[in-house]
This record gives sequence, structure tokens and C-alpha cells, in this order.
Amino acid sequence: MKINTEVLIIGAGPVGCVMAERFSNDLKLKCTIIESRNHIAGNCYDEYNKKGVLYHKYGPHYLRFKNKKTLNYLSKFTKWIEGNYIVKSVVNKKLYSFPINLDTLEEFFNVKLKSKQHAINFLKKKIVKIKKPKNSEELILSKLGKEIYENFYKNYTTKQWGISPKKLDKSVAGRVPIRFNRNPFYVNEKLKLMPKKGFTNLFKNMINNSKISLILNTDYFKIKNKISVKYFTIYTGTPDRFYDFKYGKLDWRSLKFVFNTYKKNYIQDYVQYNYPNDYKFTRKVEIKHVTKQKSKYTVISKEFPQKVGEPYYPIMDKKNKITFKKYEKLMNTSSKKNIYFEGRLAKYKYFNTDEVIENALHLYKKLKYKFKKLK
Ligand code: UDP
Repeated sequence: MKINTEVLIIGAGPVGCVMAERFSNDLKLKCTIIESRNHIAGNCYDEYNKKGVLYHKYGPHYLRFKNKKTLNYLSKFTKWIEGNYIVKSVVNKKLYSFPINLDTLEEFFNVKLKSKQHAINFLKKKIVKIKKPKNSEELILSKLGKEIYENFYKNYTTKQWGISPKKLDKSVAGRVPIRFNRNPFYVNEKLKLMPKKGFTNLFKNMINNSKISLILNTDYFKIKNKISVKYFTIYTGTPDRFYDFKYGKLDWRSLKFVFNTYKKNYIQDYVQYNYPNDYKFTRKVEIKHVTKQKSKYTVISKEFPQKVGEPYYPIMDKKNKITFKKYEKLMNTSSKKNIYFEGRLAKYKYFNTDEVIENALHLYKKLKYKFKKLK
């Protein structure tokens, strides 16, 4: 089997689907997507289980947008429902608002905090003075102090990443906002939306074009010699694999999901409960709170962090940052051969879904310009 294509895309996740859609619809180019799994949508993939409940197979994806541009683009492929994600952290068997906000501080310390300033003054006595926090532990100690760090962050982070928060870049724990108001939502962005019929449906609509060939269940590296590409290759997998592990392996944190279906409208009061200090799993998610599906059944997933398994999270410690930098240099030179790298895996960066879509649109703009010059 010989494959001739104008654009080759490795990976049918969000980046792969966006690139295929743009090249095929906008430039009318023939695109081929090679995907190793048996489905599209990457880790955004959702499906209906045997009882007809829509669930997120690879963990909850809480879509939010920093700007209207990405939202407008995606709106061509889906309708939306509101996404008011509320997460609670279970500490000493009590539910607390998470991200930390005034309610959390009041309940945890059993105080009344009348204003932002009042809370800041209160925390001044608790925080550890660190001028320039260098890692996730120092960041939280410097912003919230020892008690909050130890009860809400330390053990969750250690369980999630398998290493001490001291060794993790401060951007990891820094992803979660810290608030001096009573906003209960998990993310700060005002634009919080869920695709009405789910993520898989959105990406299916995106690549519904006769100029796109989708090849599932196929390892690109096993067939790469049989593919001839006229213009561009977009690679969305892990860089170490692409370069035959020339500089060694990049580490990833993986997850194992355990799903249970219940004949009940709801089990939890909120979509997500975090368990920093108990159990081997980090969180329990009941995605029905977000999909708003009407069903007699509901699904609860538990997430168990793993050292081995499919790559989910880049581990942002010193060793991996150094290894990635070496691969990054190679990746930058590949653009001369019209090979481009994009997405969470390829860029070894902890991007959110909206960010990878935005990056893919940006890359497309660049390649469109290059294509016009090639012609
Ligand atoms: N985190 C924590 N306690 C929590 C939730 C998050 O310490 O209850 C830290 C932890 O290090 C985690 C990071 O914040 O890896 C980012 O959390 P987020 O919920 O954004 O992770 P994701 O949903 O991407 O797995």
C-alpha cells in the first residue's frame, strides 16, 4: 500500500483535526491522518457507555476560552452548553471549595474574612517569605502558607506526579488559581463551554470532508516509508519517538481510569472531588454534571496516576526540561523539510485544549503563507 498525500498529519487529536480541517477546507488540499488508536479526538475523546451515559474516556476536559477567536472557530462544528465546572477538595472528610477562595480559608481556619484585604492580612501571618519561588512547593508556601500547602497541595501533587512538589516547575501548582473572592468555579475564564453533543462529535464534524483520509489503528512509524508527502507533515506525537530516542526518553505521567456506572440520577453534588490525602486515586469525577445528559444512570471515574502507560502529562522537572531542549533543536531544523510539531505531546508542554487549538490555528496561518510562496 502506497500513500500519496499533499498534507500528512500524524495523530487525530485536536491539533490533527484542526490542521486537516484547515488544509482541506481552506486550501482544498488532500490530507491524510494516521492515528494509532481506534478513534479520533485524542484525549478529548468521549463516548456513550453500555447504559447510554456519555463519559470522558481520558479524564475530564473542562473547555474554556481565553478569547473569542478560538471559540468562533469551533462554533462552526458544534453548538454549546454552559460549562460551570465546580470542584471540591475533600480534606479530613470535609468538602472545601477548590481553588482556594475566601470560603475555603474561612472554613479551614474557622475565621470570618470580610474582604480581600482582610484575607491578605490574615495570610500574611501564615505565608513563608520566599522572594522568587522556584518550584511548586515554594510557590504555594509563599502564597498560602504551610497549613494550606500541606492539606490541599502537597500530597495531591506527590500522588499525581510521583515526585516531590519541590522538583516540579512552579507553573504546575500555579495552574490552579488562588482567589480572594467567593468565585466557586474551577477556572477563571468567563467563556466556559461544553460541546453540546460532546467532544468526539465536534471533531468528527470538523474532519467531515472528502479530501481527508483517516487511517485509524495504525502506527505511523511502521508505514512511514510507504508515504509520500507533497507539501507538509504535521507530527503530534512524542518527539523522542520521532527521533528514535536519540537523546534518550522523555518521561510522562500516565493515568489509569476506573469507571463505575450507577442506576442513579447523580452520586456526587459536584462534578469533581479531589482527594489530596486519602486513597491512591487523586479525584472522582461525575462528568454528567457537565454534559447535563438526562439519564437514569451516571458514571463515576477514579483517576490513578501511573508511572507507565500512555503519555498524558509532561513531567516538568530539570532532567526532562534538558532532554526536551535537545529535541526542540532538532524539531526547529525539521521545518526546513516542511515537518512541523504541534500539540501537548510534541511540544512537551502542559497545554489546555483551547491552547492547543489556538496553537494549531496559528501554525496553519504560518503554513498557508509558506504554501502560497511554494506555489
Ligand atoms: N493540585 C493540587 N491539589 C488539588 C488540585 C491540583 O495540589 O486539589 C495541583 C497538582 O500539582 C496538579 C496541579 O495543581 O497537578 C494542576 O491541577 P489541575 O486540576 O489543573 O490538573 P489537570 O486537571 O490538568 O490534571
